[in-house]
Amino acid sequence: VFIAFEGGEGAGKTTQARLAAIWLRDHGYDVVSTHEPGATKIGMRLRAMLLDQETTGLSPRAETLLYAADRADHVANVILPAMERGAIVVSDRYVDSSLAYQGYGRQQDVDAIGRVNAWATGGLVPDLTVLLEVPPETGLGRLASPADRIEAEPHEFHERVRQGFHALAEAHPERYLIVDAGRPQAEISREIQYRIREILPD
Ligand code: C5P
Ligand code: MG
Repeated sequence: VFIAFEGGEGAGKTTQARLAAIWLRDHGYDVVSTHEPGATKIGMRLRAMLLDQETTGLSPRAETLLYAADRADHVANVILPAMERGAIVVSDRYVDSSLAYQGYGRQQDVDAIGRVNAWATGGLVPDLTVLLEVPPETGLGRLASPADRIEAEPHEFHERVRQGFHALAEAHPERYLIVDAGRPQAEISREIQYRIREILPD
């Protein structure tokens, strides 16, 4: 079972992914918690390059391929091995982040990015994608200050990302749970647990 958490900046993905993993472990499941970008050795180096505010002039296609490279390594070295031993994988971000940020945000060809990522991941699609929705002002407002190159993008960029995630969720209702992330944490995690129950084995 593979569960991805998606959403814009400051939506609470990391918190909710952690709460879901704890809840699953409490129910006796073997859980691997992971994240993108930067869950592998090479991935950490790619993450540093991608998010460094000193990185300037990176072309959108190169950016897309670096995220895809991180993801290919993540799938091959973390996600697939965990799934093969029967663990539940909970990932903070996955392919839809690239469709939303590099596709909608950077206004590149979303279908092309989908094809690159389908190849990079060997076609691995989450059983459930949880989208935490929060207006960009609220999300970015939760962060102390722009911590990286992407967070420092203008408001319009983050607005496109938000709309992109929403469009992706509407296009794939069978694997998406859209959550209003402006509510209390406990309420959100309960809603997510209900949905996760539906996809658990026996
Ligand atoms: O989730 P986290 O904040 O750790 O992600 C790191 C940064 O990478 C975020 O600021 C996010 O905007 C950016 N990102 C991106 N494209 C992706 C995945 C993450 O621009 N495909
Ligand atoms: Mg961030």
